Order: sequence, then structure tokens, then C-alpha cells
Amino acid sequence: MVASECAPVAKVGGLADVVFGLSRELEIRGNAVEIILPKYDCMRYDHVWGMQVAWKHLAVPWGGGGIDCTVWFGFVHGRKCFFIEPHCREGFFERGAFYGFSDEADRFAFFTKAALEFMLKSDKRPDIIHTHDWQTALLPVLLYEVYAHAGMPHQRVCHTIHNFKHQGVAGSHLLWAAGLLDPGKYMSGDRLGDDFDPNTANFTKGAIAYSNFVTTVSPHHAWEARHSDQGHGLGHALFMYQDKFRGVLNGIDYEMWNPEIDRLIAHPFTAAGFEFKRTNTVGLRHRLMLQESEKPVIAYVGRLDPQKGLHLIRHALFHCIHNGAQFVLLGSGSEHAINHDFHQLKYHLNENPDCHLEIGYNEELAHLVYAGADFVIVPSAFEPCGLTQMIAMRYGTVPVVRSVGGLRDTVFDWDHSDRPRSERNGFLFEHLDAGGIESALDRALGLWHGNRAAFEELATNCMACDYSWNHPGREYVSIYEHIRHK
Ligand code: ADP
Repeated sequence: MVASECAPVAKVGGLADVVFGLSRELEIRGNAVEIILPKYDCMRYDHVWGMQVAWKHLAVPWGGGGIDCTVWFGFVHGRKCFFIEPHCREGFFERGAFYGFSDEADRFAFFTKAALEFMLKSDKRPDIIHTHDWQTALLPVLLYEVYAHAGMPHQRVCHTIHNFKHQGVAGSHLLWAAGLLDPGKYMSGDRLGDDFDPNTANFTKGAIAYSNFVTTVSPHHAWEARHSDQGHGLGHALFMYQDKFRGVLNGIDYEMWNPEIDRLIAHPFTAAGFEFKRTNTVGLRHRLMLQESEKPVIAYVGRLDPQKGLHLIRHALFHCIHNGAQFVLLGSGSEHAINHDFHQLKYHLNENPDCHLEIGYNEELAHLVYAGADFVIVPSAFEPCGLTQMIAMRYGTVPVVRSVGGLRDTVFDWDHSDRPRSERNGFLFEHLDAGGIESALDRALGLWHGNRAAFEELATNCMACDYSWNHPGREYVSIYEHIRHK
């Protein structure tokens, strides 16, 4: 695995969970997995065990010269990780943050080049190199154009696109710096040339052209990327390479999220002992100072980002507290203005005993919210996969979601799905507007108030779903097998 994130040492979003979770699953299935990451100064070093120098003075060719790197090795909760530390004026990974700099393309193009150089010099010859998102998308290009001729002719690449919105773009000078010396060749439309700006190299487009296989994180999002604007301009490239493109649903970590043994919740429970979920609802109310009452608890857990349908989260909050429900929000945003708005809302609702807003990132509280709530909402504008709804279901918490991306692949409507009743596990709505979410919420609240036995049947259906890494792990292994023999 070559990636810019891995949970929990370097985590910004779902990408980190996937790199860690998939690596663990592949090891359980008997594969040897090593992860190559940048050595960020802001990593959680307390999650790395036995950090030591693995390679001193790795000279990585760059821009006509070279940059000296140290490669470190350490275990991250059992995973074998290598961390690349470049010694250069730019201090690529010594910025106090993972992302957000003007030379982002240089930083990660260099990291990608250094990862290959490390493999070459240390005689690592993996059957498969799995790369993730735009940060490592140049790897298949460099592998086939440079490193295949330098001693790595048999390696094969699977590239996963977690978010089409960020594709990695740069001028041809960066390709030259990385060792791709004939800009005319690489900037052509069938390689890295951006479809909308011919003077720009698009890293993700390069990965689509050069990788042996390309995935995104759910089957429905794979369709959306090809057939709607959600491909952010890459629809044509995906169409050209459709035979090697597929959506593979992410999994969630079934050890970390397990209501039977979770020590962060008020009382462990199973589907057979579903009545103990109530103890968690009481615990959640107590923790957040909500009044004890005969009302369902609706929750939102997630980033406060326009992608997540912020106006609908706000609308749902008021709709719930005016229609016989309590509402809990746990979220934080990277934009100051958004956090400010939600702080205002919190202040406005401070005295309301049926609602609590917790603005910030709190892993421990998230467990109690998933365990104690009756419903979670995920009204996203777009959602490549989404982990929240899968985690909620594991805790018998019914998802109310917009029918997009991975949400559509994992949630099947209680009233309208054509699946058998035992496989229905939530409520869906189509339109990204107030009427849309109200229609689903009203059905959800109606069931909770009107037919508790049916609601519990639905909640235990959720707990019976299997969204572990088991299925996706098998699918990735079959993709690796498929490309390994080519
Ligand atoms: P995305 O990757 O777009 O952020 P996902 O649904 O794929 O969304 O993953 C979100 C993950 O982050 C879930 O595990 C969720 O529980 C967690 N999470 C998001 N916001 C918070 C928060 N404020 N506190 C605790 N956990 C959070």
C-alpha cells in the first residue's frame, strides 16, 4: 500500500480507515502487506511501535538533482509501515498539518517517486502495489515509464479513487522533475493531459490510463462517476477504460465497532438482547443532559462540510424537535464560517432539553451516540461510500439517508425496497431538499411511535447486515489475482 494516510497515525478521513482496515484484512487472508507513508511531523507517533531507521541516505532523483531521504520503519497496531523522510529545503512533510499547502502536487509527486525508489533499492518486489487517491496516482505512470526498465518489470498496480473532486493537477515541469522527460508524450489526451486544460497534467487521469485496475469505493458511485457530473470531468477516461474500472464497497472495522464488547458505550448489547440498547439511550441522554422522555433520538455524526447536506441537517434538527423526537449532533468542520454557524445554532438551542449539539471531533462520544440513538441521518449531496450509516447499523441504529453513492448500496428502504422484508434496513429519500428529508423522517418517526415491534424488527435487521471487510477483502484479492497474471 502506498498512501498519504493510514489510521490512526495519519488520519484525515475515510481514506485512512480503508488503508488500515484493508491491509489488516489482506494479512488475515495470508498476504504479506507493507504500507509506505510520508513521515509527517504531525503524525500520532504514540501509535507507532518500535520506530527505527530502515534505510539511510536513500538518494531520490528529483528535478535534475536528487533529495536525500531517511526511511523509517515501525508497527502501527500490528501493520508494518515505512515512513519516508526527505531532507530538503522545502520540508515537504514538516508543516504541522497533513494537507493544505500551495505545493501539494510537488510534495506528493515526490513522495510517490521516493516510494518507488525505496522499493527498487531495497529489493522489494511486491506482486501488487495498491495506490490511493491523487496523492499517489503518479505511481503507475512512473512504474511503467521508468521503474519497469530499471528492475521492476513484474509489479502490477491497483489504484483506488476515494474522492473524484481532488485529482492532482500540475504543469509539465513537475513530470519532468519526477523523471518523465518527454512532456509532449505524457501531456497527450490519452495519457495525463487534462480533458479541460491541455496544458495541465492530471495525476488521476494518469492513474486511470496506466493502472492495471482502478476502483472507487462503492458500485453506485462507480456508476455516478461515469454517468453524472460526479466524475468531475473524468467520465470519458473512465468510459475508455471501463473494462478495468469497478466499484468495491468499503468495509468498517468490526473489532473497533462492536456493541457486544465496546467499552466506550454504557452497556454492551446484541440483537438477541436488544432491550439493553435502551440503557445506552439513557446513558447518552445523561451524558448530553437531554431530558428523559418517551421520544426517539435522531443523530448526526460527521464532518460539517457542504458535501454532507448542511442545510438538511439543520432542517432535520428543527423538524425532529417539533415532531416528537430528540436530536443530537456530533460534528466539526474545517471551515471557520461553518463551525461558527453551528456554534450559533447551539447557543440558540442551549435551553432546549430535547437537543444537543457537540461541535468538535470526539471518537469516544461517537461510540455512545451510535449505541444510544434510534436513527442517524446522512443527507449528503454526494457520498462516495459513507461509513457512518454502516457503523450505525452495527449498533442497531436505523439510517435515514439520501439515495446517493454508497448510501444507496448499503441502505434498503423499509417501505419501498423490492428486497425481502428481512433485508430492509432504513429509510431513503431522493431529493436534496426539505421535502425529501421530511418524507423519510416522517416515515421513520411514524414507525417508531406507531409500531414499536416493527421498529425493533427493522433495527435488528440492521444488526444482521455484514459490512465488515470480509466481502470487500475477498473482492480485492480477486482483483489482485486477476491483474497479477497479466
Ligand atoms: P468522510 O470520509 O466523508 O468524512 P465517512 O462517513 O466515510 O465520511 O467517515 C466518517 C468517519 O469519521 C466515521 O467513522 C465517523 O464516525 C467519524 N467522524 C466524523 N466526524 C466525527 C466527529 N466529529 N467525532 C467523532 N467521529 C467523527
